[in-house]
Amino acid sequence: EPAIRLENVIKVYPLPSGDVTALKGINISIKKGEFVAIMGPSGSGKSTLLNQIGSLDVPTSGDLYIGGINIREMSDDELTEMRRDNIGFIFQKFNLIPLLSIYENVEYPLILQKRKRDSERKAEKLLEMVGLAGSIINHKPTEISGGQQQRVAIARALINDPKIILCDEPTGNLDSATSEQIMEILTRLNRQGKTVIMVTHDPETAGYATRTIVIRDGLVA
Ligand code: ADP
Ligand code: ADP
Repeated sequence: EPAIRLENVIKVYPLPSGDVTALKGINISIKKGEFVAIMGPSGSGKSTLLNQIGSLDVPTSGDLYIGGINIREMSDDELTEMRRDNIGFIFQKFNLIPLLSIYENVEYPLILQKRKRDSERKAEKLLEMVGLAGSIINHKPTEISGGQQQRVAIARALINDPKIILCDEPTGNLDSATSEQIMEILTRLNRQGKTVIMVTHDPETAGYATRTIVIRDGLVA
């Protein structure tokens, strides 16, 4: 059974100026352990698609299955829990909390779950895994480079051992040498069995994926 399956997914944004149909009937099946790049022109629906895959909201119509379960069959609480346990998110702008240290940013999801005791070694181990060790982890995000901030964001995305990692333009704010390092970390995670799905404009970044899905005007091209 696929990790993720979308069946005729339609997403409409209701706007005062008229509805925008961002996704017009998407059918995609992604196997466990795949590394997928989603490409396409600006405004074609890539971010909307990634948000749908991430179960951030329910499709306007059509069905989304995560691990074989239709998300329509989950309550809001079940959906939140499923997302927390199964899906890690990485963004172009890193989305770190500026007032917290690097270490605190990574352990924060566990603190929210009142699992501080589990977090002590785990955050440190994950930071080590992405190449951040030593006193740097006590610094604030603004004190480190963009590439380092994205490493922190990856460590944070992994804190609940998700099987699926979703990335929206993970190298969009990085130079090409730094992008390569970030893509090597994502490749390593994929080799360890994670399903990785990323939206990117950049053909070099997409080159790390083993499958590319092109979206055009709300449909798979
Ligand atoms: P891409 O990621 O390919 O640039 P998006 O998914 O961001 O495309 O956008 C697809 C379409 O949906 C665009 O027409 C965009 O303006 C519209 N859209 C995206 N997000 C929203 C939103 N939150 N509210 C209203 N319209 C949106
Ligand atoms: P089990 O082996 O008992 O099914 P797992 O933790 O391997 O337990 O899987 C739990 C759920 O996660 C299942 O629905 C499975 O289909 C799904 N799953 C397992 N591995 C992956 C993966 N790499 N990517 C996405 N989903 C996965």
